[in-house]
Amino acid sequence: MLQIDNDLCVGCGICEDQCAFGAITVVEGKAVVGDACTLCGACVEACDVGALTLTGTEKSVQMDLGRWAGVWVYCEFRGGTLASVSLELLGIGRKLADTRGVSLSAVLIGHETKETAAQLIGHGADIVFRVDNPALAHFTDDVYGAVMTALIQEQRPEIVLAGATAIGRSFIPGVATLLNTGLTADCTKLEIRAGDGALLQTRPAFGGNIMATIECPSTRPQMATVRPRVMKALEFDPQRTGNVIDITPVPEQLQSRIQVVESVVSEGCNVNIQESDILVSGGRGLDNAKGFDLIRQLAKSLNGDVAASRAAVDAGWIPYPHQVGQTGKTVAPKLYIACGISGAIQHVAGMQSADTIVAINRDKNAPIFDVADFGIVGDLYEILPKLITKIEECRGL
Ligand SMILES: Cc1cc2nc3c(=O)[nH]c(=O)nc-3n(C[C@H](O)[C@H](O)[C@H](O)COP(=O)(O)OP(=O)(O)OC[C@H]3O[C@@H](n4cnc5c(N)ncnc54)[C@H](O)[C@@H]3O)c2cc1C
Repeated sequence: MLQIDNDLCVGCGICEDQCAFGAITVVEGKAVVGDACTLCGACVEACDVGALTLTGTEKSVQMDLGRWAGVWVYCEFRGGTLASVSLELLGIGRKLADTRGVSLSAVLIGHETKETAAQLIGHGADIVFRVDNPALAHFTDDVYGAVMTALIQEQRPEIVLAGATAIGRSFIPGVATLLNTGLTADCTKLEIRAGDGALLQTRPAFGGNIMATIECPSTRPQMATVRPRVMKALEFDPQRTGNVIDITPVPEQLQSRIQVVESVVSEGCNVNIQESDILVSGGRGLDNAKGFDLIRQLAKSLNGDVAASRAAVDAGWIPYPHQVGQTGKTVAPKLYIACGISGAIQHVAGMQSADTIVAINRDKNAPIFDVADFGIVGDLYEILPKLITKIEECRGL
């Protein structure tokens, strides 16, 4: 609990200003704690006179942090394909490992993974821990979780990174729980702090309005997930060498409560906008599902794909896999054309890394113009047909 020593408290109000939850108020010259307190400790650190103390929150586990070394990346392999986020994580993992002066290891779990192991070394890994078994051909939370947890307990890496994909989000939190350590989801920046070598994990917080940097000071490994297309992969270097270490899982780890009956690729939703170089994106300004016909036409004329804001997805005009933003996908195409999208912070968070952004909006004050390289103010139903005709003419379509 948070305790206030009234003899020491000078009622300066610094703790009140520091509290992001509005849980502390100064009443008659003394700080008073309310029910909204989350025991985050920000006020304790801010208090110059030492009037605030947190009690009963000490970690029950005291780890010897020095016994944990190395950076690990979980490399997602499914249906014979490596998820591109794995290579992006090896890119940032390489930087972190070099800064720490430790090795970078990839963890590859699946079946028939031989060629992929070599690919991971060419993209930056020093070591590949390969767990290849027919029982691992299909992903299941419990088996992958057991294999990953056992490997971490045995090898003791200080940092473990994974993609914030459907698979990563599904089993990595369970691994962190079994290891009794922390996990920061959806990081957009990862750095090593000089001095103590702590992993600084930055991610959007409070609806994307602030960037929070999170540390895991008392336990190891320090675990983080990163969304696809946030980090950059290194070029493949065929000269790079490394070791592939084959790990044989113990039979108990392969016992699953889940039986995979069939694996089916969903039709119509197999678009991966994160791989697209050109995206034409539609928002609520389209006014109806039919409006996406124009968006599709423009995308087709440019050899691009169709994306959308959450408002358009929520309205049922287009399926969720097309959604860009904080609760959708993060994209980084060469060209992003936003049509009838206002530019809410949650949308911009998912597309601001595009090389060139074009916005079409009838409101000249729409925030999307703040991030756009080119803006067209006007009615998209007048502009888009003209644009499509012009592009088709230029391209001889
Ligand atoms: C926790 C959280 C997570 C979220 N995650 C996401 C996310 O992942 N992705 C996302 O997109 N949003 C997300 N949102 C929602 C976000 O806050 C916005 O509500 C949403 O992005 C708005 O979508 P929009 O720009 O299409 O609609 P609006 O904000 O309604 O904007 C429509 C725009 O179209 C323009 N317009 C209207 N008619 C025309 C016309 N005929 N011609 C030209 N322009 C026209 C208007 O001027 C307006 O600027 C999230 C919100 C929260 C709270």
